[in-house]
Amino acid sequence: MITRLSQLFVRTLREDPADAEVASHRWLVRAGYIRRVAPGIYSWLPLGLKVLAKVERIVRDEMDAIGAQEVRFPALLPREPYETTNRWSEYGPNLFRLKDRKGGDYLLGPTHEEMFTLLVKDLYSSYKDLPLTLYQIQTKYRDEARPRAGILRGREFVMKDSYSFDVDDAGLEASYQRHREAYIAIMNRLGLEFVIVQATSGAMGGSASEEFLAIADSGEDTFVRSPGGYAANVEAVTVVAPEPLDYADVGAPQRIPTPDTPTIQTLVDRVNAEYPREDRPWTGADTLKNVVFTLLQPDGKRTALAIGLPGDREVDLKRLEAAVAPAEVLPFGDEDFAANPALKKGYIGPESLGENSAAGVPYLVDPRVVTGTRWVTGSNAYDTHVIDLVAGRDFTPDGVIDVAEVREGDPAPDGSGPLSLARGIEMGHIFQLGRKYAEALGLKVLNEQGKLVTVTMGSYGVGVSRAVAAVAESSSDERGLVWPRELAPFDVQILATGKDATVSDFAEKLALELSAAGVEVLLDDRKASPGVKFTDAEILGMPTAVVVGRGLADGLVEVRDRATGERTELRADEAAEQLIALLLP
Ligand code: ATP
Ligand code: MG
Repeated sequence: MITRLSQLFVRTLREDPADAEVASHRWLVRAGYIRRVAPGIYSWLPLGLKVLAKVERIVRDEMDAIGAQEVRFPALLPREPYETTNRWSEYGPNLFRLKDRKGGDYLLGPTHEEMFTLLVKDLYSSYKDLPLTLYQIQTKYRDEARPRAGILRGREFVMKDSYSFDVDDAGLEASYQRHREAYIAIMNRLGLEFVIVQATSGAMGGSASEEFLAIADSGEDTFVRSPGGYAANVEAVTVVAPEPLDYADVGAPQRIPTPDTPTIQTLVDRVNAEYPREDRPWTGADTLKNVVFTLLQPDGKRTALAIGLPGDREVDLKRLEAAVAPAEVLPFGDEDFAANPALKKGYIGPESLGENSAAGVPYLVDPRVVTGTRWVTGSNAYDTHVIDLVAGRDFTPDGVIDVAEVREGDPAPDGSGPLSLARGIEMGHIFQLGRKYAEALGLKVLNEQGKLVTVTMGSYGVGVSRAVAAVAESSSDERGLVWPRELAPFDVQILATGKDATVSDFAEKLALELSAAGVEVLLDDRKASPGVKFTDAEILGMPTAVVVGRGLADGLVEVRDRATGERTELRADEAAEQLIALLLP
């Protein structure tokens, strides 16, 4: 079967969509692969659907290869199981909740741990049934705060999610490793350059977890790497706390007037000029900045949290969000300050903070704020600071929180040298969930000794629709999409360029011959100028184009490689055979 461009439901666009920030979004829309319906909600057109199906096939192959079995759950789910695990509320505003006509609560599944756990509980009862891995490729719903970049972050998206069930920890470890191998194979077949990084487990709960990131400047995730091979999402980076310092020689804290020091630098300049340290100049890293946030808990309660960190660093909001999940992070606004007069905006000091303080705000500090460190910080009075305030002597925080920005060159947690930073798109996430869900939902089996034991689980996701965008992101250029062979909607696009009937006849014949051999052919048989056909072929991005045109009079056709731009001529009478060899290796 050949597909004719004259019949295909596609319109290429000359203009970028107004909201396109990244290449994949721009080209998938302009090439007529996807179409926006609402923010973060897209329709798949014929070409896009073909690519999506090819991604699904790769994922299916690799899941089947590790012995996982495919099932499919509904997207529309009852509230109760999610209530039992607390996720009905903990998932917060990201969960699409709805009611049926009788007033019953339902949700659109954001991920399906509960449902798989209950299904296995329903049917299995013995260690002999395990290990078991089930998966589905299914549409998920999340009311993302920032749907972005077309299908890269949608509110409706396709995910492969799988769940492993084992009777003991060693079994879980083996299931996890099998998934890790399958994910490596998937990433390789998608042709994505990727890293595997340590991750936090977010709303899932659980312990060991790693993410597969496609390396891309347009990605939303930042990850770090060390010379020694440590790799982590910045959300999961742990700062190495320095050793406590001896503070025997540090004098008592001293309040100092500091009007007109609106920035850390002006404050540092002032203390160096008027209250120099005896050993070295004060720096921004010697100032202790105390920042207050509002946390919105899943039950709607608002609490405040104060974070103390070296003044030369900012709080990284994504790290903070990961650390306080499922609570949401909101600013601590002027009304909040007005409601808590013990907090003096711009001059908040450790002495006014802490659960038992006047302000009553829990106070967590950066791991670098170890006992003996000596700070310039707020004094809880406007236009004054305090110097020589020593951690562990003059103030004791409620605990530690590791949410300061991670910077290029920071020492790596593995001690192997400086960290380097880059960005990536999260393509997959593998978790050792452990017994959290099985415990909550009562999934137990009899072990070999006839004793009831709680099953241990893993949960593993791949962004299937996101993969279409991630591949487009890594393989497009200023003229359009450039599909790798394994994902292209068609193996070849044949362009008949010329009014002469011999041209269209030959193109038709070539298309049929290739198609009969199993090549997927898109034939541009439209009555359009060669220029339009060339431009469209580049936008659509099939890996190979064959131009049947003027050269035919000399018995030649031209083959163009979309990725390299390379052009070669083939003898028309040998073209079919040579193209089959090229396209079906
Ligand atoms: P992110 O940090 O990007 O929001 P996540 O940690 O919420 O991802 P998981 O819950 O682990 O993601 O989901 C598994 C996979 O599903 C992710 O690795 C990603 O590839 C994909 N995915 C998650 N959210 C979306 C989305 N909104 N749109 C498209 N794909 C998504
Ligand atoms: Mg998410």
